[in-house]
Amino acid sequence: MGIGYDVHELVEGRPLFLGGVQIPHTKGLDGHSDADALLHAITDALLGALGLGDIGIHFPNTDPRWKNVRSTVFLEYAAELARAQNAQIMNIDASLLAERPKISPYIPEMKSAISQALSLPVNRIGIKATTNEKLGFIGREEGIAAMAVACVLVP
Ligand code: MG
Repeated sequence: MGIGYDVHELVEGRPLFLGGVQIPHTKGLDGHSDADALLHAITDALLGALGLGDIGIHFPNTDPRWKNVRSTVFLEYAAELARAQNAQIMNIDASLLAERPKISPYIPEMKSAISQALSLPVNRIGIKATTNEKLGFIGREEGIAAMAVACVLVP
């Protein structure tokens, strides 16, 4: 099992990417890459299950190669590392914590993007979304957070 958590700040003038999908919104997530907190949490969960550190080790935010890169690149890389160990990704489950925008209409498209990046059937991918009941930085729409777990069969 691996666990992942990520958070990024919501700012004006950036596109919003979550789960590999661009979502129309007044703000986007700030970061070195596309700042897709959901894909970062899933990538960390996979790296954790493989005992291979975290996303910051593999993709330092000081490296210009990862500037504004789509985070599906990170997820595909984690899947490649799993394949290199003959490990099999069994399932992924994730929760998005966002006050706005409404996430549920985009979940099927997110599952499809993650399914493609990991070569994993969609019925092995769980994505849920919840608001933070207007509490804290998420409730004030200052940021969006994501949590994920990954079950990986490592020989
Ligand atoms: Mg991140």
